[in-house]
Amino acid sequence: MTARFRFAPSPTGYLHVGNARAALFNWLEARRTGAEFLLRVEDTDRERSSSELVDNILESMRWLGLDWDGDIVFQADNLPAHTEAAMDLLARGLAYWCDCTSEQVQVRAKERGGPPGYNGFCRDRGLEKSEATALRFRVPDDGTTSFTDLVRGEVSFENSNLEDFVLLRSTGLPVFLLSNALDDAAMGITHVVRGEDHVPGTPKYLLLRDALGLGRPEVFAHLPMLVNEGRQKLSKRKDSVSVADFKAAGYLPEAMVNHLALLGWGPGDGVEQRRVEEIMELFRLTDVNSSPAFFDVKKLQAFNADRIRALPVETFVAAATP
Ligand code: GLU
Repeated sequence: MTARFRFAPSPTGYLHVGNARAALFNWLEARRTGAEFLLRVEDTDRERSSSELVDNILESMRWLGLDWDGDIVFQADNLPAHTEAAMDLLARGLAYWCDCTSEQVQVRAKERGGPPGYNGFCRDRGLEKSEATALRFRVPDDGTTSFTDLVRGEVSFENSNLEDFVLLRSTGLPVFLLSNALDDAAMGITHVVRGEDHVPGTPKYLLLRDALGLGRPEVFAHLPMLVNEGRQKLSKRKDSVSVADFKAAGYLPEAMVNHLALLGWGPGDGVEQRRVEEIMELFRLTDVNSSPAFFDVKKLQAFNADRIRALPVETFVAAATP
């Protein structure tokens, strides 16, 4: 069976460098190994998603040269299937309706002390679906949920520390986690390569897939977070992070790709500047490390300056015209 990678951006903002790095690492490994690289737009947050943002993401990917295989999957098209899966869990006693408000959950957590979050208050109340109820997944009380991560090694969560999480909101809409886990299964994704902010959601993703008999992806790789000069997590508000902004500021895509490739990975010989074909030959997902990666704008500028100086005159004129 052909291995399948995917990039799954949410069109709730412009494509930022962290997402672009995730797309690039998927693309490099998939293209080098002859696997497929699919694109799924996770557009289920109707209020924050827009077609303008989808266009921005696609345009930035094309600019970086990250081509994908097959048709783009739009997650919103699959919502009926996600709801159906949630109802299946309900029918099998693996999910239940809950009418607790978030204030009630907080107050109760405070009263009992210990970890915050929902403690299964409605598990056995036998509530029916109503406008006030959300559907929650019944997390097993005991045991652990573990996975092997190519970047972080063995990752393990005690089920007793996971709350009964929401599957369907009171509006009836599936939550991100459910849609994400089910679409990966429906698309036959074998390699899940994404930012480390998704580690805490992964045990829930796996519990859901297990409960629905959907098997598990073969490989997880959670990429290290990007930090700025002050070693702070890169922030959309404080740092310049939008790929389109770099394009507009005159950066060449080759310089950007080269710099993105070094965020969590480096070639054995320490030579930093390379053409993308050479990077692809050397890149190994297994060599990605887990330490925070510095998005170094000065280094990117230096790469860009070198690339610009090396351009043939006609190419330089064409690139400078806009
Ligand atoms: N849509 C998610 C995001 O943009 C990605 C989820 C994933 O890659 O699994 O953060």
